[in-house]
Amino acid sequence: MNFRFTEEQEMFRQSLRDLLEKEFAPIVDERDRKGPLTREEAIEVMKKLKRVGVGLDPESIEDLLDPVLFGIIAEEIGRVWPSLLPLLGMGAIPAIFVPAASEEVRSRLLPRLERGEFIGCFAETEPEAGCDTSNLATTARLEGDYYIVNGTKSWISNATIADTAFVGVKDAATGNHTFLLVEKEITPFEATESPKMGWKASPTGEMFFDECKVPRENELSVLLEKAFASGTMKLPAGFLKLLTSMTPVTAMLTIPRAGMGLASVGIAQAAFEASVKYARERVQFGRPIGKFQLIQEMLYEMNVLIETARLLGYKAMSLIVEGDPEARKYSAMAKIYGGEAAIRVTNLAIQIHGGMGISEEMPLERYYRDARMMTIPDGTSEIMKLITGYSILGKGFSAYN
Ligand SMILES: Cc1cc2nc3c(=O)[nH]c(=O)nc-3n(C[C@H](O)[C@H](O)[C@H](O)COP(=O)(O)OP(=O)(O)OC[C@H]3O[C@@H](n4cnc5c(N)ncnc54)[C@H](O)[C@@H]3O)c2cc1C
Repeated sequence: MNFRFTEEQEMFRQSLRDLLEKEFAPIVDERDRKGPLTREEAIEVMKKLKRVGVGLDPESIEDLLDPVLFGIIAEEIGRVWPSLLPLLGMGAIPAIFVPAASEEVRSRLLPRLERGEFIGCFAETEPEAGCDTSNLATTARLEGDYYIVNGTKSWISNATIADTAFVGVKDAATGNHTFLLVEKEITPFEATESPKMGWKASPTGEMFFDECKVPRENELSVLLEKAFASGTMKLPAGFLKLLTSMTPVTAMLTIPRAGMGLASVGIAQAAFEASVKYARERVQFGRPIGKFQLIQEMLYEMNVLIETARLLGYKAMSLIVEGDPEARKYSAMAKIYGGEAAIRVTNLAIQIHGGMGISEEMPLERYYRDARMMTIPDGTSEIMKLITGYSILGKGFSAYN
């Protein structure tokens, strides 16, 4: 058994960490407090990340879809600025389908992807369809060569700055649940911001589709057929193996869920590092507070939670690499455990810092707010527990029927 990353993976982690420390760490606290990034700011972020090969263009996205590299990216960005995660995580979903789109769509979007000027979103959740997305109210009505889309989406990351969306719809004729690649330039839609407690710089909003016309060839099954026929969709071998034991959507969700677990590890790690430093420096009763056993116990608890969450996260990623069906259970467990661990660790970090912990002068209160976000998007902890339970018990034990 080998718990070490390869030299290449370590080098990648270091170059990404150096970039994040240099470009984003000095500005994160002030900028995050100001609220959602504008589209121009988000593009600037994407261009900076591209310097270390992190991007959504067809070549860079191959690395992004490597489960272990995705885990490293999630952990490192989580450690410095979690608000940036949806730019990559959610943007990647429409981006992977661009090479399979029509020549016309590709000619518009590929150059944008190459230049790092593509902002995408994945729009599934609705006001009345949160955990239960089995019965979407957003409909797509086929008229000739176009789908006409009507409906509202809620809590969509990047909604207000996205140029391209991958939108979950119910086919009005068949009742089937499918997805459409929607370009704002061609199919204008409205979006408004939904303010929230954490990930302050990440735009999140409602999207409104009113008789929006989307070319028929932008529908998921058409895109998938073209992608496989032309070989444009280069998915990792392990991921393709997962498709033999679970539905494409279930397989697709394993990576972001384990990624959310590892992003939580990143947040917790930042809070832990700050706490270790403070425990060494802050003097009370004539000695550093790190000498007090109750402080040491908190550091122990934080450290063991982080290590356990990290092991679970990368174990899930390694099962995805192998195409092991257990990846579904492990990615769900990694998401729950990582999110809950980050909440506990950032809470303890505030306690160690005393009054400074809740002060806006230090990043501890941001860590706590950002950690609190982690148990909701990409599947709540409760839904992750139901997936785990079903994976343990097997057929006949779905909590939904
Ligand atoms: C910051 C943020 C970003 C997001 N980004 C996106 C995005 O990019 N794209 C997108 O499509 N969505 C996104 N979401 C939406 C997110 O996926 C939903 O919020 C989530 O699925 C929960 O839906 P809900 O908020 O409507 O809660 P509800 O479904 O109303 O759930 C409320 C509570 O009931 C629990 N619950 C529900 N059903 C069960 C059950 N069967 N058993 C036990 N407990 C249950 C839930 O766990 C939760 O605790 C985002 C959300 C947030 C907060």
